[in-house]
Amino acid sequence: MTERYLGIDLGGTKMEAVLTDSMMSPLVRRRIPTEADGGYEHIAGRIAHLVSMVTRESGVPVPRVIGIGTPGRYETVPGLIRNSNTLCLNGRDLKRDLENLLQCDVVIENDANCFVLAESLLGAGREIVGERGGTAFGMIIGTGVGGGIVCGGRVLHGAHGIAGEWGHNELLPDGEPCYCGKRGCVETVISGPALERYYCSLTGRSRPLREIAGMADRDEAAEATLCRLTAQFSRALSGVLNILDPDCCIIGGGVGAIGRLYSRETVTLIERHLFSSRLMIPLLKPQLGDSAGVFGAAMLTVKH
Ligand SMILES: [Zn+2]
Repeated sequence: MTERYLGIDLGGTKMEAVLTDSMMSPLVRRRIPTEADGGYEHIAGRIAHLVSMVTRESGVPVPRVIGIGTPGRYETVPGLIRNSNTLCLNGRDLKRDLENLLQCDVVIENDANCFVLAESLLGAGREIVGERGGTAFGMIIGTGVGGGIVCGGRVLHGAHGIAGEWGHNELLPDGEPCYCGKRGCVETVISGPALERYYCSLTGRSRPLREIAGMADRDEAAEATLCRLTAQFSRALSGVLNILDPDCCIIGGGVGAIGRLYSRETVTLIERHLFSSRLMIPLLKPQLGDSAGVFGAAMLTVKH
């Protein structure tokens, strides 16, 4: 039988499903509101509704396994969702409950892992990772800072399920407290809100980061904010590169859209901290946009 892959990108406000053929071409793609206010059981019911919607429309049975990407982490032991911003999912065994509801296997990964899986195999890293089987380090730098690793065509999950979570490495000793309980994490320095706070500390004015990034040529504080981003991003990333030495890096999220992260200036800053004298791998902008999450979720179910 021809393989079909079904992935769901489960967000706090909307959930999206894609059913693909064996070449990852979409057969049906649908998006519905999550209705998270309805609580945990309601969300599980919405997922089941979405699955029956796409399978009915495509005329294929529910696949043996369904992939789900969502913010937060699913800890295999004891089998619970943690750190999800859809709070009613936390502490619940979404995998087991959906498997009972849908009568199929369910794979759950965090959204950063789905992002790097799709971008490295189908998007920005396609030639380096998809075709040559290399290693990719993918980052999402936005409201938070996450990351994931794809190696040999698969997500590297890790013993604790935290592989690639560079956002909570300590960057500034005695820095700002982080929600994770530690201080000075990468996320508290280079996330969008952290950079906006920095700009505000210099000027007393609140501006969205997009605006700050656009006025660096005529505003000293905006320039200082971007310099802080590139300097601290370089320090944080070089620590990852020294350990993983990937074949490419893919930088997603709102902060990842800032052009200066891909400049020669940033590469020089990285080289200052890197164990090797030259950075020989590309820093790539994502290519799949919104689609990375849902296609990455579908790709979780591909057997190797
Ligand atoms: Zn932290």
